[in-house]
Amino acid sequence: MADAPTITGKELFERAKAIQDKISGWRREIHRYPELTFTEHRTAGLVNAALIDLGIKTETEVAKTGVVGHIQGGSGPVVGLRADMDALPITEESDVDYSSTRPGIMHACGHDAHTAMLLGAATLLKGLADEGRLPGTVRLLFQPSEEAQDDEGKSGGMRMVEEKALDGLDAVFGIHVDPTNPVGVVATKSGPMMAAADHFIIVVRGKGGHAARPQSTIDPILLAGHAIQAIHHVVSRRLDPMESGVITIGLIQGGTVNNVIPESVRMEGTIRSFTPESRQLLHDELRRACGVIEALGGKFDLTIHWGYPPTVLDETATAVMMAATREFLGEDNVKLGTAMMGAEDFSYMAQKAPGSFLRLGVANPSWDQVYYVHTPQFRMDEDALPVGAAALAAAAVKWMQEQK
Ligand SMILES: [Zn+2]
Ligand SMILES: [Zn+2]
Repeated sequence: MADAPTITGKELFERAKAIQDKISGWRREIHRYPELTFTEHRTAGLVNAALIDLGIKTETEVAKTGVVGHIQGGSGPVVGLRADMDALPITEESDVDYSSTRPGIMHACGHDAHTAMLLGAATLLKGLADEGRLPGTVRLLFQPSEEAQDDEGKSGGMRMVEEKALDGLDAVFGIHVDPTNPVGVVATKSGPMMAAADHFIIVVRGKGGHAARPQSTIDPILLAGHAIQAIHHVVSRRLDPMESGVITIGLIQGGTVNNVIPESVRMEGTIRSFTPESRQLLHDELRRACGVIEALGGKFDLTIHWGYPPTVLDETATAVMMAATREFLGEDNVKLGTAMMGAEDFSYMAQKAPGSFLRLGVANPSWDQVYYVHTPQFRMDEDALPVGAAALAAAAVKWMQEQK
C-alpha cells in the first residue's frame, strides 16, 4: 500500500463525471418515489441492491429503515460517509420530468441527491479497493428520517448512533445541497455550524367567563400577551450578545367567539442555540419569563421537547474536506461557510466521531430565481452530483492518506 500512487481529488472527480448518468439515474428514481420518515423501504431497497451490485457487503434495517455498507481496503483508518434518505410532506411543483409520483410527498431537501451521490462515492471507492489502492475502510451510512423524530423522539441519525453504526469510526463526512450557491462552489467551517432546535409548548390557564364581566375572570389571552412580551426579552436581555439564539412563537390558539373569555390559550414555538450553555440558559429563562402569567393570577404548563443538538464540526476533518475538494474545484470555489440557525441530525454523528459537513452548491447560474429547500419548487442542477460524489470519496481517501 505504501508504494501506491497518491489518489487525488482530481482523479476522483474525473471518475465521478464519467458516472454522472448513473448517479443521476439513481437520483431520479428516488425522486419519483419519495418516502417519509422511517418508511424509506423502497429507497433502502434500491440502495441495498445498488451496493450488492457493486460487490459491497451490506446490513439492512439499521435504525429501522437504514442501510450500512462496508468497503474493505487496507489497514488504515475507518471513515464513515453519510447520506439521508427521507422526503418531506410537500406536493411537488417543480417542472422536472421525473417529478414525484406521490401527491403530498416530495424530495424538497435534496436527500434523493445525497443518497445518489453516496452511491456514486461508493462506486469510486469500491473501484479503488478493487485496484488495491484504498488505504483504509469505508463505512457507508444511509440513514432514514433526518427531517423528523419518531414517537420515541428519535431521528434516523440518532438511531444510527444508538445502534452502534458509528462505533470505531475515525472520522465521518456528510454533505447537503445548497441552492444559494452555484454548481462547483462548496462551503463549510469548523466549530458550530448548525443550531440546536428544541420545541416548546405553553398552555396558559386562566378563568373563563363573559367578555363583559372581565373582573370575574382571569383572561388567558391577556396573560398570553404579557408572556409573549416577556419571552421576547430573553434573547435580547438574558443571552450574552456575543452568543446566538432564537426563540420564536409560531403558533397561538385561544378562544372560540368574540364575547367569551376562554379558559386557556396554547402557544408553541422553537428555541435555537449553538452551545450547551446557551441552550440551557434559553430553556431556564423561557420558564422564568412565563412566570409573568402567575404574577398576574394565571397558571401555566411549559413543556420543552429536546430536539437535535448543535452540529459542531471538527477542525481536522473540516480541513481535510476543504483540502480534498480544493484539489478539483480550485482554491476560490471552496468557501468558508457561515453558521446557520437550521438544525441537522448529522449533529449526533459529529458527536460520535470527528465530523465535517459540506454545503454543495446546486444552483444553475442561469436561473434567475432561487428556490430554497423545503419549498414545492425546489430544484437542483444535476451537474452538482459528480461534485458531491467526488467530494465524499476524496474526503475519505484524504483522511486515510494523511491521518494514519
Ligand atoms: Zn430538510
Ligand atoms: Zn436536508
